[in-house]
Amino acid sequence: MSIKENLDKLRKEIPPHVKVVAVSKTKPPEDIMEAYNAGHRVFGENKAQELISKQPGLPGDIQWHFIGHLQRNKVKYLAPFVRLIESVDSLRLLRAINKEASKNGRIIDCLLQFHIAEEESKFGLDLEECRILLKSEDYQQFGNVNLRGVMAMATFTDDEKQLHREFATLKRYFDALKKEFFTDKADFTEVSMGMTNDYRIAVEEGSTMVRIGTAIFGERNYC
Ligand SMILES: *Cc1c(COP(=O)(O)O)cnc(C)c1O
Repeated sequence: MSIKENLDKLRKEIPPHVKVVAVSKTKPPEDIMEAYNAGHRVFGENKAQELISKQPGLPGDIQWHFIGHLQRNKVKYLAPFVRLIESVDSLRLLRAINKEASKNGRIIDCLLQFHIAEEESKFGLDLEECRILLKSEDYQQFGNVNLRGVMAMATFTDDEKQLHREFATLKRYFDALKKEFFTDKADFTEVSMGMTNDYRIAVEEGSTMVRIGTAIFGERNYC
């Protein structure tokens, strides 16, 4: 199936209120243009270097989401154009984003990345760390970042019960934060969860944003 057919199929299956981020990592600009010409505008990349090299050659109305681990010294390259940084996992990173956003005269939308996988080795905050971040005086001063919600990756597994459990955990974190910190903030709305292998379960558990690569662009070849 073509990229356009893959997108059409996904769009039919995923409820309209759930945004689809087309994860184009490792894929060439031609593939991105195929999705773009099919009307898609929201793309995700997980490596700063790769995004920086692709972005200038592609249409300016693409909304780029950064979804990978972000080093503070790379923020300056993304700050002029990135639409949503989905992977904020520390106060230090948020501070760097705030600073570079300010230099660019922008307010950058961000998601807080949580650790929900029952396996080790995935990045992300836990709920207590997040509360400390949000209560910090530092955070209260940040005028150039706008927190829009939460993001996480589940364990890579076929165990559906476990996936339900992990996604339900992220939704619970979102609800708790909304209640404790963001009741009056109408745009704190996003729960970014679900990839090719688990997006159906993520949507059942309340995802508002799925990040899908393989089901749109096909398998990736890492070299
Ligand atoms: C690669 C990636 C995805 C998409 O993965 P697929 O399984 O190809 O859909 C989603 N989120 C993050 C953070 C990724 O790195």
